[in-house]
Amino acid sequence: TAPILEVTGLKVEIPVRDTVLRPVRGIDISVAKGETVAIVGESGCGKSLTALAIMGLLPRQAKLTSERIDLNGESLSEASPRRWRKLRGDRIAMIFQDPMTALDPCYRIGDQMAEILKQHRKVSRSAARERSLELLRKVGIPSPEERLNQYPHQLSGGLRQRVMIAMALLCEPELIIADEPTTALDVTIQAQILRLLRDIQRETGIGLILITHDLGVVAGMADRIVVMYGGEVVEAGTCDDVLARPLHPYTEGLMRSIPVPGETRRGETLGFIPGVVPRQTGDLTRCGFLERCPYAHAPCAEGPIALRDAGDGHLMRCVLPADGSGRDPEAWTRQS
Ligand code: SF4
Ligand code: MG
Repeated sequence: TAPILEVTGLKVEIPVRDTVLRPVRGIDISVAKGETVAIVGESGCGKSLTALAIMGLLPRQAKLTSERIDLNGESLSEASPRRWRKLRGDRIAMIFQDPMTALDPCYRIGDQMAEILKQHRKVSRSAARERSLELLRKVGIPSPEERLNQYPHQLSGGLRQRVMIAMALLCEPELIIADEPTTALDVTIQAQILRLLRDIQRETGIGLILITHDLGVVAGMADRIVVMYGGEVVEAGTCDDVLARPLHPYTEGLMRSIPVPGETRRGETLGFIPGVVPRQTGDLTRCGFLERCPYAHAPCAEGPIALRDAGDGHLMRCVLPADGSGRDPEAWTRQS
């Protein structure tokens, strides 16, 4: 089936003082109907800016170029701010990490939902109320009639995120982009919200882009995984392939960072890979992960590394063999 969203060669450049930052360096992403694509990476790897670019929400000083951004056949790479405003909330919806930044503290939930509907549809007050109630029920909010009259601060974090999901669904979008939708919530609520998103997505056939720093979240959620580092895709493939056989050392590091309950891994630092995402200006002249990679060797510095197909569409941007050879697992321990 034709993809809902097809993005190729997406780049974001941000001029700062005497240089230009290049946080997104030409990435390709496609999402089919009913598909969940996870974009995974640490903060600063370019994943949130990619999402904002697809929503037409980049900061004003940022420059977006793209060979192609197609939403169900409509080309958006040259779309005007006005066109983006019409699409957002209607055909593409976004769910943010912190609903308090997306909800207006001064308005009741019901009024905010009605406002979104009125922006995109001709609806009466009572029809807007009915539709809002229907969605609050769908996302599992108890006593929805009461909730409509409440202000955001009167709801718990988990309920607020459910309200955000209900709002995202109001206009039956083709695509939802969820940026760290559960990061601010505690583990139990996190699991409930993810299950809710997955169920709704399966039922409606909406395309979902799930952005997360946590590879642990994507298992059981995503169909495909795109791993970003330094503004580039460093690995991409089906969820099963990437989790069972991570090919890029960065993905390997992310997997080693998933805490395993009840298990202390000797010699390893949980939760992060040593080093930080480099600040990126200019063209890459070698592997962007070189400084942090436990397997770095001479060929890694000999030029920019191409993204290559390791078989079955499993993509990797690394010079190591795709069969897993040439990697000494002890190298991770030595490094940290
Ligand atoms: Fe590590 Fe070299 Fe692969 Fe880069 S190209 S990820 S430095 S092994
Ligand atoms: Mg982010």
